[in-house]
Amino acid sequence: MPAVPLDRIRNIGIMAHIDAGKTTTTERILYYTGKKHKLGTVDDGTADMDWMAQERERGITITSAATTCFWRDHALNLIDTPGHVDFTIEVERSLRVLDGAIALFCAVGGVQPQSETVWRQASRYGVPRVAFVNKMDRTGANMSRTVQMMSERLGTTPAVLHLPVGSERDFRGVIDLIDSTHKHWTDDDDGVTVHISPIPEDYVEQADDARRQLVELVATEDEGLLEVYLSTDTLTPEELRLGLRRATLRCALVPVLCGAALRNRGVQLLLDAVVDYLPSPIDVPAVIGHNPDDERPLVRRPDPSGPLTALAFKIAADPNVEKVVYARIYTGTLQTQSVAWNPRVRKRERISRILRVHANRREAISEASAGDIVMLVGPKATATGDTLCSPSDHIVLEAMSVPDPVIAVAVEPSSEREKDELEAALSILQDEDPTVRVSLDPDTGQRLLSGMGELHLEILLDRLKREFGLTARAGQPQVALKETVQTNAIATGRYERRFEDTGLFGEVTVRIDPLRRGSGVEIVDRVPDGVLPNALRLAALKGIESAVNAGTIAGHPLVDVRVTALGGSVHEKLSNEIAFEAAASIAVRNALAEASPTLLEPIMHVQVTVPTEALGKVLGDLNSRRVQIVGVDSQDDTEVIDGEAPLSEMFRYTTALRSLTQGRGTHTLEFRRYDAVPSHLVDEIARRGRLS
Ligand code: GDP
Ligand code: MG
Repeated sequence: MPAVPLDRIRNIGIMAHIDAGKTTTTERILYYTGKKHKLGTVDDGTADMDWMAQERERGITITSAATTCFWRDHALNLIDTPGHVDFTIEVERSLRVLDGAIALFCAVGGVQPQSETVWRQASRYGVPRVAFVNKMDRTGANMSRTVQMMSERLGTTPAVLHLPVGSERDFRGVIDLIDSTHKHWTDDDDGVTVHISPIPEDYVEQADDARRQLVELVATEDEGLLEVYLSTDTLTPEELRLGLRRATLRCALVPVLCGAALRNRGVQLLLDAVVDYLPSPIDVPAVIGHNPDDERPLVRRPDPSGPLTALAFKIAADPNVEKVVYARIYTGTLQTQSVAWNPRVRKRERISRILRVHANRREAISEASAGDIVMLVGPKATATGDTLCSPSDHIVLEAMSVPDPVIAVAVEPSSEREKDELEAALSILQDEDPTVRVSLDPDTGQRLLSGMGELHLEILLDRLKREFGLTARAGQPQVALKETVQTNAIATGRYERRFEDTGLFGEVTVRIDPLRRGSGVEIVDRVPDGVLPNALRLAALKGIESAVNAGTIAGHPLVDVRVTALGGSVHEKLSNEIAFEAAASIAVRNALAEASPTLLEPIMHVQVTVPTEALGKVLGDLNSRRVQIVGVDSQDDTEVIDGEAPLSEMFRYTTALRSLTQGRGTHTLEFRRYDAVPSHLVDEIARRGRLS
């Protein structure tokens, strides 16, 4: 296949609240673009994009695979984004590599809580969007209410392109306001044919009004078109499309379409909108990075003949197949059997194969260029988020912001024989997902697996079992606590050992200061020149660094503190690095004890959606969990509660909420920040926070 010109590539993702119909819509897209020959449905678990076993069982999409299909001579690379906030990093990393997105809404639920979260993330990345109001065939479907919610809740300016024809079960098609036609579908051919006819008599007036509104909206967003509009009093379909494209690319407008993916209605028009309104790789800003050798900032444009610049945005590993790397190429061209440089690990990576992933097959290609998203086989050391670049022209792209994990579970091999296999499997999970951490508990020597939420850990443990065939035992999940200080303090640590004619001696003085929440740890060297020989000064800094990994209350890592090395004293014969490292650690511990140490716990943003009649009970229960209620928002007969919840109080909340609402409540939890544990609870939380 000849290379697709850059302006005919669309790298897009579909963002949606869980259950809005993302999988179904993706399936339909693959079907109509002709790359898939049988319609699968999520309900019987045959959908292609949900290829992992537990996704099928849970009916949710977890991994973001990239799939290529073609529409109107354009290559569409679909990047699957997950719907659950435990997998924020998946959303984050797909937003990094896509240029535009389809925002999917359920016509009944409208703008659901989690759509807001993902919407804000997309806005942060400046991702142009088109909206598709799905499930127009369902009872209670309401296009105009959904549009209204989009402007009220998301603060966006919707540009309505469709009026639904027929409602709920009789939803048949749409009035296309761009070219003023009636487009409709029948059940007998899986909606393959888009029937086009004049606007039915009883819709003419409504359609005229709506088109005028659309024309005015587009004209006021576009100076050139405003003149045309003022002189001709209308805009042609071509002018409307042009104006909509320009406004969408600036994120000034969001074109809104409607349909029912499950009933095969509206999907082709959505594909048209992707081609017409969403950006190609040349419509988006150049990527920025820096030269790892001299820190110089660098900008790379989508030029196939420039120096290779690619981002590995997903690693997929399976014990039965080779490790594969999904990469977006920003600049240059990558050939099979060529070598790319990974600046993080400072290694050359041989690209043995380049694959284009279609819904149901992989196609080997000989090269891939700027703008493309492909799968690479060959890189061994590359992890998620790494840059792959030209061996002769180094660049590191901006790193993804990876949150620290907030919950951990101890895992143990079920037998001595399984130990190595478990070790290997955990390291694969960690390579794939940067929000996964594997560590050793310093007290118990157990392996700890950390992640972003209960569901995240559950899925990881499940994968160990299923994909890797391990029967590892897991303990109870525990929140990841941290420690900090509330005041400043100066203290000295001395390490002294005397033996008969020899010994060890080190003495270090440090100061500790509290920092603002979210600042992390700073280690500062203020030892005056000449006080300590360089080797001992470095040893002292090393001692400080190891001491901040474990606080004094319950041994959790310190955060939001600055530790300053102030000085020390040296014994002419007995001082060495070991003694200074130990003395610095003791100094930090002494200073901590003086600086009112306290415990920090992860605080989550919680959003609970419940039927109005259950509101009282649910609020009462949230209060007992130390949740600060921020607001309650009524929508018809449901209430959306927003609050801030300590994660440690929210374990198994799914089960609690189910019984409080007869299964009708839903909730999301998303990490916000670390905050101090109330003083009367420090002991109890410290005890509960221990992994045993
Ligand atoms: P996802 O969680 O966003 O991937 O949503 P799915 O595609 O899994 O769909 C969730 C449920 O909604 C499934 O039971 C689908 O059959 C159903 N669904 C999807 N699209 C439509 C639609 O257009 N109309 C109706 N009535 N149901 C739909
Ligand atoms: Mg899905």
